[in-house]
Amino acid sequence: MRTFSTNPALINLPVYHPGRPIEEVARELGIPADSIIKLASNENPLGPSRRALAAMRKALAQANLYPDGNAFHLKQRLAAKLGLKPEHLILGNGSNEILEFLGHALLDGSPQSANPKPGVAFASEPPGAAAQVEVDMANSSSGAQEVVVSEYCFAVYPIVTALFNARLVTVPARNFGHDLGAMLAAITARTRLIFVANPNNPTGTAVSAEELARFIGSVPPNVVIGLDEAYIEFLDKPLDLLPEIRSGARPNLLLMRTFSKIYGLAGLRIGYGIGNPDFISALEKIRQPFNVNSLSQTAALAALDDDEHVRKTRANNFAGLDFFAAAFRELKLEFVPSHANFVLVRVGDGAKVFEAMQRQGVIVRPMGGYQLPEWVRISIGTPAENQRCLNVLKEILH
Ligand code: PMP
Repeated sequence: MRTFSTNPALINLPVYHPGRPIEEVARELGIPADSIIKLASNENPLGPSRRALAAMRKALAQANLYPDGNAFHLKQRLAAKLGLKPEHLILGNGSNEILEFLGHALLDGSPQSANPKPGVAFASEPPGAAAQVEVDMANSSSGAQEVVVSEYCFAVYPIVTALFNARLVTVPARNFGHDLGAMLAAITARTRLIFVANPNNPTGTAVSAEELARFIGSVPPNVVIGLDEAYIEFLDKPLDLLPEIRSGARPNLLLMRTFSKIYGLAGLRIGYGIGNPDFISALEKIRQPFNVNSLSQTAALAALDDDEHVRKTRANNFAGLDFFAAAFRELKLEFVPSHANFVLVRVGDGAKVFEAMQRQGVIVRPMGGYQLPEWVRISIGTPAENQRCLNVLKEILH
């Protein structure tokens, strides 16, 4: 029995359910780990960059020392690559940690602290839009600060919102993707933060460059845009927002990127935020001094220069997306055309199909937690993994 109380926000806090680890499933099924494939967490099927591995081997000998808390070399290299200054960058223990920094920085949990400058350039509201927007009822009468997200958004946004006692405003998706116009219309005087993932996880949808540019230009300056670019490297022609950051034209824009996906370093936990130096220095106050360990910094630095690994990863991904798209068309399975390294497909009873696939050693991701119980999400694997996944899926469905 607990003899003390915890933060009341924890009572209804949603729990993040990650993809099942291979070792765990192997233990459960009593089968060897190497007979299992995991296509559940949008990892890089080609593994980490060899350059990153070599650099980490060297760095191991210095594991007795604390890492460089300010990540001098990595920030210099990243800044040079992006045409920015190190002051534009903050590193996180995965980009997940940057999402949490936003909560700390913007949501203070106080019901009365509405936006400091209400009424600045709010978008006009199309008739009926407000009526459809779903508001988290736990906080609906408290006048809490608001965070605007899209239906089918990445699960961590609602968690961060709830953790900081803010109110989640969920805007219905359009064709599984973000309806940016409706999201703009959902901004009120209490809105502090608006999350957009482009491409989005779990749907794989992307908004057009024009739409995104218009949206960013229309969000009032007192609302922070958390633009999650975890999968940006898989886009063909992404909107380049670095000029906006460079010029200081959008101080309310924070881009978030990761080394977990295209660079294949998910296990090392390293991501970064890109923003106005003034906002970045506020976020830096929240960051623990050694949040990014020395091996991650070393590996990320080496991976940034491994263009060949990035090129191969993209090529493998495009081929895999085409493979699944063709297969699903043939099987007459509904799927959402994807711009990322995974695909959402409608299989009937998603939980059952997930379980049945898992019993055959193929781990995918059930989508019940995203209110998509008929769907599973499949991360793109190597060609052999994709084929095995498809074979197992076909066998189960027919
Ligand atoms: N944003 C999105 C949209 C994601 O899908 C993920 C990973 N699942 C993250 C952020 C977090 O990635 P990481 O913490 O590994 O950088």
